[in-house]
Amino acid sequence: MKKHNFSAGPCILPQSVLKKASEAVLNFNGLDLSLVEISHRSKDFVDVMENARELALEHLGLQDKGYKALFLQGGASLEFLMVAYNLLEKKAAYLNTGTWSDKAIKEAKLVGDIVEVASSKEQNFNYIPKNYTIPSGVDYFHCTSNNTIFGTQLQSFPETDALLVCDMSSDIFSRQLDFSKFDLIYAGAQKNMGAAGTTLVVVKEEILGKVSRTIPSMLDYKVHISKDSMYNTPAVFPVYVSMLTLEWLKDQGGISEIEKINNAKAKLLYTEIDRNPLFKGFVANAEDRSKMNATFNLTNTNDKDRFEALVKAAGINGLNGHRSVGGYRASMYNALPLESVKVLVDVMQELENKG
Ligand SMILES: *Cc1c(COP(=O)(O)O)cnc(C)c1O
Repeated sequence: MKKHNFSAGPCILPQSVLKKASEAVLNFNGLDLSLVEISHRSKDFVDVMENARELALEHLGLQDKGYKALFLQGGASLEFLMVAYNLLEKKAAYLNTGTWSDKAIKEAKLVGDIVEVASSKEQNFNYIPKNYTIPSGVDYFHCTSNNTIFGTQLQSFPETDALLVCDMSSDIFSRQLDFSKFDLIYAGAQKNMGAAGTTLVVVKEEILGKVSRTIPSMLDYKVHISKDSMYNTPAVFPVYVSMLTLEWLKDQGGISEIEKINNAKAKLLYTEIDRNPLFKGFVANAEDRSKMNATFNLTNTNDKDRFEALVKAAGINGLNGHRSVGGYRASMYNALPLESVKVLVDVMQELENKG
């Protein structure tokens, strides 16, 4: 039986997607050829790329609004640099809410001037800073919508005249937002969208081409747009898996329906973390808690071996916290069924009742 997969990334994907993807590796579209051995210029693959790009815009409500979707390589980590290369002329503002924001700042500093508007680093990123000011005249404001490692999530985004850029790697397609407020969104596939190896970039085309520097071709969004995300050989398998997952999401009723399930999963787990005296949450303020990644620990570390034995016996995978936080992290991405969260909550109650 399939394990209850709470892994933070790469992570759970819908079982139906995995089945279709595995079939395509052996025989794609009835061609008697594998998806991974045909030309990326063949009509069969070009259709995959076009479909994936279109579905991404459709789910975000950004079709016909001047946005382009790209599937690039280099992970979200390369976007840290690409964003700055393409948008940073004088100065950019960053909100520092975790390891990924911190890395984004580090890369952007190679390109230009960065103002860190606020940071929760001094408290090991266990809250989301609020009431900061974005200086006027910055080229863009960058934030991370969900902090995968620490288990915090932005519930609102600032009103600003600056371009709004967001790393949504770990909560894209998980909740409804007014995505048209954003000028550039990027997300590594391997958290909520597909197999590792491709990164979705959704960018408003009119913001590009404004910086004075020469941008190397592979780092230039305009180059990738002009070649329909096929400037070089795309990551064919991860793009295909992303397309299948986006189709699956559509079959589920889209973001609005999956959000209801995501809310139910988060409510179930956080209610238990708050109720059960054997556990405590990591995040300082309940309103900052992530619905994708719940971080928590045992109140008494003497329970560690007993808890972990129960977790293992229940067929739960990937519950270990990131080394910078410790404890546990339950990642509840779109494809994780509510049933898996029920199993985890049962284990937490079993630990308490056998106390
Ligand atoms: C995982 C993650 C990244 C890094 O993604 P890569 O594709 O490994 O480069 C960046 N930002 C966030 C929020 C993440 O969760």
